[in-house]
Amino acid sequence: MRVAVVTVGDELLVGETVDTNAAWLGERLRDRGVTVERMTTVPDRTADIARVVNEYHADYDAVVVTGGLGPTHDDVTVEGVAAAFGRDVVRSEEAIEWLTEQGGYSHEELADGTGEVPEGSRVLPNHEGVAPGCVVENCYVLPGVPAEMKRMFAEVAEEFAGEQRHVVTVDATEPESALLDRMATVRQLFPVTVGSYPGEHVTVRFEGTDTEAVEEAATWLRERVDPVEE
Ligand code: ATP
Ligand code: MG
Repeated sequence: MRVAVVTVGDELLVGETVDTNAAWLGERLRDRGVTVERMTTVPDRTADIARVVNEYHADYDAVVVTGGLGPTHDDVTVEGVAAAFGRDVVRSEEAIEWLTEQGGYSHEELADGTGEVPEGSRVLPNHEGVAPGCVVENCYVLPGVPAEMKRMFAEVAEEFAGEQRHVVTVDATEPESALLDRMATVRQLFPVTVGSYPGEHVTVRFEGTDTEAVEEAATWLRERVDPVEE
């Protein structure tokens, strides 16, 4: 299963808020064997949200959108997603019922615009906050507040599945350029994806669906590099 993640928020684009939602979703989806192929951040602007959702819902098996769900003027995600699917925005009776009967809110407490979703959506209750999420075709719309997003993702996590991938890393003290020959060889010898991540040391990352091949590739390289002393 191939998925795109879209995070919405002006504050993310200027670095005021670090996009922890994208990182968290990337990890959770990977754990479920899903391949995340895009992570895109867009401003709180209806047309921008509509454009990426429209493109990604056609290209990927699912799109996960977070942020901009509330009823304030700068929360336009529902309009953007509705536009991407050519649907109207409607007040969901189901969402209002859930909020008043199980969420503990009175009708008066709910701000105008609360409970609005693209027409025909499956509504996802918000157990940690107010704004409901929704699923429109293959697009999952979740809140921006990390605790709310995580709780809501748990409700739909089962719908994301793929082949489990195995990952092993090997750290080396040699400069990355010195490792090029061995990395080329290991890629030829084993059916695995090889990534190289320089930092304090070079971390070489092996990933694949064949656990044995990943382990063998890592062992092959580990025996041929200057290891990092523990
Ligand atoms: P609410 O229903 O509370 O209005 P919302 O879905 O409208 O939530 P936002 O208004 O986009 O969410 O953001 C709410 C809070 O969550 C803000 O403090 C924001 O910085 C934070 N937040 C939003 N998106 C992310 C993200 N991708 N990573 C981390 N924090 C985020
Ligand atoms: Mg908001």
